[in-house]
Amino acid sequence: PTLSVANILGETARRHPDRPALHFAGHTIPYGVLWDQTCRYAGALRARGIGRGDRVAMLVPNVPDFARVYYAALSLGAIVVPVHLLFKADEIAYVLRDSGADVLVVAAPLLAEAVPAAASAGVPLVTVLLPEDAGVDLPRLEAEAAVAEPLPRHTPVRPTDAATILYTSGTTGTPKGAVGSHLSIVEQVHCTLIDSFDLRADDVVFGGLPLFHTFGQTAVMNIAFRCGASVILLPRFDPDEALALMVAHEATVFTAVPTMYVGMLEAAQRTDARPPLRYAVSGGAALPVAVLEAFTAAYGASVHEGYGLTETAPIVSSNILSEPIRPGTVGRALWGVDIAIAHPDVEDEIHLIDPADLGEIVVRGHNLFKGYLGRPEATAEAVVDGWFRTGDLGTYVDGVLTIVDRKKDMIVRAGYNVYPTEVEAVIARHPDVAVSAVFGVQDDVKGQEVHVAVVAHSERTIDPAELIAFTRERIAAYKYPRVVHLVDALPLGGSGKVLKRELVERYTPVRE
Ligand code: ATP
Repeated sequence: PTLSVANILGETARRHPDRPALHFAGHTIPYGVLWDQTCRYAGALRARGIGRGDRVAMLVPNVPDFARVYYAALSLGAIVVPVHLLFKADEIAYVLRDSGADVLVVAAPLLAEAVPAAASAGVPLVTVLLPEDAGVDLPRLEAEAAVAEPLPRHTPVRPTDAATILYTSGTTGTPKGAVGSHLSIVEQVHCTLIDSFDLRADDVVFGGLPLFHTFGQTAVMNIAFRCGASVILLPRFDPDEALALMVAHEATVFTAVPTMYVGMLEAAQRTDARPPLRYAVSGGAALPVAVLEAFTAAYGASVHEGYGLTETAPIVSSNILSEPIRPGTVGRALWGVDIAIAHPDVEDEIHLIDPADLGEIVVRGHNLFKGYLGRPEATAEAVVDGWFRTGDLGTYVDGVLTIVDRKKDMIVRAGYNVYPTEVEAVIARHPDVAVSAVFGVQDDVKGQEVHVAVVAHSERTIDPAELIAFTRERIAAYKYPRVVHLVDALPLGGSGKVLKRELVERYTPVRE
């Protein structure tokens, strides 16, 4: 077998066809069955003319068809383009055009946005999960697979060939397609399995992170499939449902973003049932230490925070299982990945500084993406002398990485730098606070003012003046929030991260 992402499923299925691969909606799908179905889908896509280097866009939630379509396309040597599930028609059309998609596979519940998008981009569309009696006349991949010849064998690929084009979520502007290679993904999987998390075949992994995003796709699905573990698929994260499913399937590993951790804490107050978790993994955004501690107390599992990006396949570093965790840090570099700290304001070259000083985190290694599709200038700005500029500020001391914040989220209040993550970590210690987001709003006097949007725990209330006093006692005067916005929920992106840009827009005064 070649070094191909398709083999992550294919080889495990060949060796262990009877092991459970997916738990979904009360059914368990063994590896052998999942692979047979995948080869049928591959046959159907091949009959549509899809082959090596073609782009298969997919708009499919966390259902077994995600895995089937993903590995089917890869086993043809095609490139998978998973589209963000919350994208509207214009955004989907943008991704289809920008990626040069040859086909769009779309799950029935997402047709309303997908049909006009595919039409405007001139891309053929084929559906999955479309009921026979839906009364909609669109091609069905299942039906095409039933009559197509299943794919007899993989199309060989070179390790450096593109495997995925993952669009950055747009938190920072126009989505760019980060091209990941088979090598970057397979190496990432192996290094994570060996060094960071000792996933085993009898593990049952929680799969509530969206699979269209790199975190769920590789740090959950690809990693679990590589070692024959099983994944509990959850199409829409709901903490009570997640907890019930984890108990029912005896989940041993919980991998999530911080907002999901907050939800799980609330769910734990409503039932005593607990899954037999061995450990938990957090990433995607800063996990306040108070949340980490509360999760360990409620679920009896240590929480290993890691750090990663779409462009780095994704994991750069993590608190590894074989060492005591260091709360508030994102742990050690993944094997073969170099981390350094660069001067954040020197744009056109990488000027490395003492890694104990705060600066921009830069990364190089096998996990780096191939570049942004069709954007040589953006790629050249991001990758300088082989180092990828992450846009995140941090320090790297004794081989341990600490994230301070995103460069663009830093608030400059009256000339002082305020890092929202630090303030959020303090606010998370308040007993009435479920979750908060600190952000800077333009201010005539101070330049920027520190605001916080905060959600109370259910059945608790927050007094803004008391919250300000609580924070003021614990951090320097220039850092504590001056303005508190009580909200029912924070605006979240499709990957479960807080959309700070939306908060800034919402609370910036409109000028005449
Ligand atoms: P976009 O690129 O569209 O703006 P995004 O920045 O959220 O979206 P991702 O690749 O999903 O793109 O996320 C990477 C970012 O997530 C990192 O640059 C970092 O800011 C943040 N991040 C990931 N893990 C952590 C962590 N453990 N602590 C703090 N921040 C983290």
